[in-house]
Amino acid sequence: MTVFSERMKNLTPYVPGEQPQNRKYIKLNTNENPYPPSPGVESFLKDFSGQSELLRLYPDPQSSQLRRAIADYYNLKEENVFVGNGSDEVLAMTFFSFFDSGRGKLLFPTETYSFYPVYCNFYGIDFQRVELRDDFTIDIEDYLPAETPCGIILTNPNAPTGIALPLSEIRRLLESSNPDRVIVIDEAYIDFGGESAVSLIGEFPNLLVVQTFSKSRSLAGLRLGFAMGNEELIKALTTAKDSFNSYPADRIAQNLGEIAINDKEYFGTTVEKIVETRNDFSLTLEEQGWTVLPSSANFVFAKHPEIPGQELYSSLKEEGILVRWFDKKGISDFIRITIGLPQEMDALLEALKRVEAQRR
Ligand SMILES: *Cc1c(COP(=O)(O)O)cnc(C)c1O
Repeated sequence: MTVFSERMKNLTPYVPGEQPQNRKYIKLNTNENPYPPSPGVESFLKDFSGQSELLRLYPDPQSSQLRRAIADYYNLKEENVFVGNGSDEVLAMTFFSFFDSGRGKLLFPTETYSFYPVYCNFYGIDFQRVELRDDFTIDIEDYLPAETPCGIILTNPNAPTGIALPLSEIRRLLESSNPDRVIVIDEAYIDFGGESAVSLIGEFPNLLVVQTFSKSRSLAGLRLGFAMGNEELIKALTTAKDSFNSYPADRIAQNLGEIAINDKEYFGTTVEKIVETRNDFSLTLEEQGWTVLPSSANFVFAKHPEIPGQELYSSLKEEGILVRWFDKKGISDFIRITIGLPQEMDALLEALKRVEAQRR
């Protein structure tokens, strides 16, 4: 076929975790939340029935009310908040707005969210991966090279390791950074145990913090993400958005996002439950001889004492349990297990016993 643009020929798409539509699995592979969203979400949807007339009209292109709710939550101003169709889209706008070749390379760790190199490929941004330490932690020293990078992006807590970087380290990075280069902290999992860098926004105009409603707020199916930073950064993101899609967050999403962010109590309870399940589950795995990286997220990255990652992944899938395995040097012995309900983690442990027994 010759219908494709030159740009199209070089694309390598991101491969998301499986979302099987046929068989019912215990899904511990894409870090979704096992608890439903805020009860207010359900009530809104019930009341909305009969009001579909409202969908006749376009939503607020600036998502002002939702942005104000997010700003209130973090003690910021509406001007410091940008909203998009999932944080993946917010990241796409971020890469477009702040990173380009000709001003150095974008730095990110070897093991991190695998969408970053995909955006780089999409926009033609040069990048350099930085090795983690042997214990899978990030060494901030490695991000202070003599040659100025075009930007830096770190996931905190990192994925798929789950390991959090202390706020003092992020501050150190920002203090030694070139103020003309944007530092992005992707905080998709921050609510499960990390320290948010939002508190540093006033001090560092080149800091952009990205978060999502998909994980800690149980709304992966809704598609809502946001970025927080200096007003000038947010203006740039808005210009990019308005050059691509003026209405990334639909009317229902804007309403539900506001309800979810305002329900602090429900949010606190569910996050706490997940953290407790994670800590119990990690301990159990360790007692059974696994290597478990210290997680501050809603998943654990762990290595069985004998069974290779790929085999574990397939055997568990046969048992009706989905986990994530990465076919990548250095981490292929590990599997990433999302923290589900306590009974789902128990089911996984039971399935593991069967898998282990079959091998003997
Ligand atoms: C899940 C995830 C995202 C994407 O979240 P969406 O808001 O659902 O698009 C972004 N970054 C990281 C590190 C993630 O794990």
